[in-house]
Amino acid sequence: MYIPPPVRADEKYRDLLTVVESRQDIPQEWQGTPIECLIMAQNFGWPIQSTGKPELLIATCIEFRYALPVPRMYSYVIRRASGRVIGSEFSVGYTIAQGVKYLAVIGHNDCGMSQLEAKKAGVIEAFVSQGWPRDAAEQYVAKQATRHAIADELLALKEEYIRLRKIFRQLVVAPLFVCLHDSRFYVPNWVSDPETEKLIGDGSAVDLEIIDGLP
Ligand SMILES: [Zn+2]
Repeated sequence: MYIPPPVRADEKYRDLLTVVESRQDIPQEWQGTPIECLIMAQNFGWPIQSTGKPELLIATCIEFRYALPVPRMYSYVIRRASGRVIGSEFSVGYTIAQGVKYLAVIGHNDCGMSQLEAKKAGVIEAFVSQGWPRDAAEQYVAKQATRHAIADELLALKEEYIRLRKIFRQLVVAPLFVCLHDSRFYVPNWVSDPETEKLIGDGSAVDLEIIDGLP
């Protein structure tokens, strides 16, 4: 099994991520919330106490090299290829109705969805092996690839973070990046960048155009 090098040594992520080495490194808005507990459990092995009333939803990739550090009764979880939530907005709304206030979106390095072009033929074969006509499998994979493929794991996380903030105006969204080498969370530096807030824009109403464009 291939384990990628640490993101700290990876040129691609240089100056873009901050490792959480203590509670002080956690952005203020997340302190004292289930997001802080998630980070402390992941990076320092702190035990998580389940309240039985989950306020946290975690969205991450289907990646088998990453295991969530949460016990049962602690959070809702959406796991999808690349970790993006697009297409699962209804699930987010449902969990909000159950009391969720925080959404942790976890990206990771060496994501298969960043190499989808190279893996596409194999995915088509997978559908064919399940009885799909080849034409239908090719068309389906081509269509899905535009939604699932990512060029860069951290950039994709940023785009999804901005998209989610525009759709869920009251939810606290925490983008986190997990390094598959050491299984530690890093906080993207663009979280605290005013430019990112500018891209999200203020206001509490969601654009109808965005809602109409949801899959
Ligand atoms: Zn992945």
